Amino acid sequence: MAEQVGEMVTVEFAVGIGDGQFKASATVPAGQTNLTQILPVLQSLSSSFIEGVTAQLAESGQPVSCRAGCGACCRQMAPISIFEAEALSAWIRTLPEARQEQLASRFHQALVALGAAGIIDRMVEEDWQAETESARKLALDYLYARVPCPLLEEESCSIHPIRPLICREYLVTSPPEHCADPAHLQVVPVHLPLNFSRILKAIGKELEQDSRGWIPLVFLFAWMKSGARPGDAVAGTGPQVLYEFVKRMSEAVNRVRANDVAGGE
Ligand code: SF4
Repeated sequence: MAEQVGEMVTVEFAVGIGDGQFKASATVPAGQTNLTQILPVLQSLSSSFIEGVTAQLAESGQPVSCRAGCGACCRQMAPISIFEAEALSAWIRTLPEARQEQLASRFHQALVALGAAGIIDRMVEEDWQAETESARKLALDYLYARVPCPLLEEESCSIHPIRPLICREYLVTSPPEHCADPAHLQVVPVHLPLNFSRILKAIGKELEQDSRGWIPLVFLFAWMKSGARPGDAVAGTGPQVLYEFVKRMSEAVNRVRANDVAGGE
């Protein structure tokens, strides 16, 4: 269902999750746009979905413990889709030159620190998404290198309204301080039945056959130099682009459900 107002159009949709549904509406450009350009819409949908999950958890006595000012998880490797890399690159180019230089320097320092800890070479070689012992070890070693995200300022995200989807989706119900030492303290992550970041990464991987469809956030300034514009490859009217995303999200949910059923047999 779509309702057009001026050059924007509001689209309503629903994605089935188990016995329930995620029903939402989104206002997108009626005319030509692309996946990177409608990223703010996806961020807003992701946030409203997460708010619903967070409220349910609070009601069931398992409140999410993540709070402003806790940047413990911001020392992990943050995988961002190439579309988010494109959007963040465009945003950085709008900043005053002095701020751009400051950020470039922080990203450089983070890479130097990770290099000194022997992490960078392994980051390039390892498949982070693989459920392997070495991938898990690399993720832990990255965290214990204690290199803060270059966008973390005074333990808060300096780009909070436009932060990547993966950062929105990382939530825990365990004590926040546990996130700084997951090898010894139990961390209880929140399972989200809809994972917006994963869908974007999968679309990116389809576009770039020889890549993973994502980059570690700390590589952003290096990636920017490529001038890549992956969003153009998923273009159309606003409703068409949103449909592409929602369709893949539904397919992903159905795949997980089919696997669960097969696993339960
Ligand atoms: S972008 Fe923000 S929320 Fe994400 S890791 Fe960096 S500082 Fe943390």
